[in-house]
Amino acid sequence: MVIIIGAGLSGLVTAYRLKQANIPFKILEAKETVGGRISTKTTENETPIEMGATWFGRQHQNLNSLLNELHLKPFRQYHGEYYFYDDQNSSHHGKYKLPHQEPSYRIAGGSFSLINTLAERIGEDNILTSHTVEEIKAYEDKLTLKINNEKTIQADQIIISVPPKIWVNQIQFEPELPAALTETAKNTQTWMEDSIKAAVEFSEPFWKENQLPSTIMSNYGPFVECYDHTNQQENKFALCGFLNPAFKEIKKEEREQLVIQQLSSILGEKVREAKSYLEYIWSEDDQVKWPKDIFMQPHQNNGHPIFRNPFFNHRLIISSSESASLFPGYMDGAVEAGENAFKQVFDKIKQEQNQQLN
Ligand SMILES: Cc1cc2nc3c(=O)[nH]c(=O)nc-3n(C[C@H](O)[C@H](O)[C@H](O)COP(=O)(O)OP(=O)(O)OC[C@H]3O[C@@H](n4cnc5c(N)ncnc54)[C@H](O)[C@@H]3O)c2cc1C
Repeated sequence: MVIIIGAGLSGLVTAYRLKQANIPFKILEAKETVGGRISTKTTENETPIEMGATWFGRQHQNLNSLLNELHLKPFRQYHGEYYFYDDQNSSHHGKYKLPHQEPSYRIAGGSFSLINTLAERIGEDNILTSHTVEEIKAYEDKLTLKINNEKTIQADQIIISVPPKIWVNQIQFEPELPAALTETAKNTQTWMEDSIKAAVEFSEPFWKENQLPSTIMSNYGPFVECYDHTNQQENKFALCGFLNPAFKEIKKEEREQLVIQQLSSILGEKVREAKSYLEYIWSEDDQVKWPKDIFMQPHQNNGHPIFRNPFFNHRLIISSSESASLFPGYMDGAVEAGENAFKQVFDKIKQEQNQQLN
């Protein structure tokens, strides 16, 4: 039995491939829900809002080919002609023409439709939520996992589809893993771990009709980046982006007020007719941000080759987006890592079958 730890995109991709190859597996997920850093929330008015991963480009070939295989459609992010640079203290405050840029895309129906589609194909019975792995023991080719501080499960192979800084601090290993691996993992930034994602929902995209800038950049905030968040059918409307992480220190109601104030100073009084405000502080999520933390550079050690080595005699495989070689940290990296973990498991099983035949 193959055990996958983590039901984020990387773990689900590995599970999907194992299911196709008829290799028995189970996913153990700490949270009550799947998806990890992909989280599409739906408002009372059924507007899909991305609180986690949202955008991708043509260069993200692993992701694009998976979407294609699953018949999920990308749609183009609307930017309009202008952006607003919000810096009250400089002369660079105002509306500017957007320079030409490569188009970016979103997944029709929301990023979570990728998670839902994979989970459906994998089958509910194979995904065990509220299962936190705390310990992995490896002796004589036998692997044992301790879960929720109570039960144990045996495995032939284990794939850790969890960001490095989280697994290295949350899971005890016996025997210990090589120091080079654990030191690298401790010093690997989990992509977007400090983000605050926020969105304001509206009944009309008034910014589109009046040539107002829906792309807003600010060096202070609360929104430091904000974009149009109209859905693919163009019948649900919002503005969505990232808040300055320093605004975490104030109360939610205060943050909401400041967001509305900032947007209305740029887009006018119509902003005050907003239908709802949503936010998610990722640094308060224990499965994303390790609490006792030290400062790290963005993407620090992301894609480090040590994560792509097998451990415990090819029975322990490290995955998660941060381990990918091409676009570590991004959804594309999670797909690459998930495919790579499947390939390693598949090759090991084939090798063992060949040895038995000889
Ligand atoms: C705010 C935000 C915005 C982003 N925007 C973009 C974007 O626009 N474009 C883009 O390409 N990428 C974006 N990303 C990055 C993208 O979300 C990730 O690259 C991708 O979702 C990571 O998938 P993963 O499976 O590697 O890890 P995760 O999604 O982190 O999944 C890991 C899973 O493991 C579980 N877990 C952790 N510890 C344990 C344990 N001990 N036992 C069992 N389960 C455990 C977690 O609960 C989680 O479900 C964004 C991320 C965030 C947070």
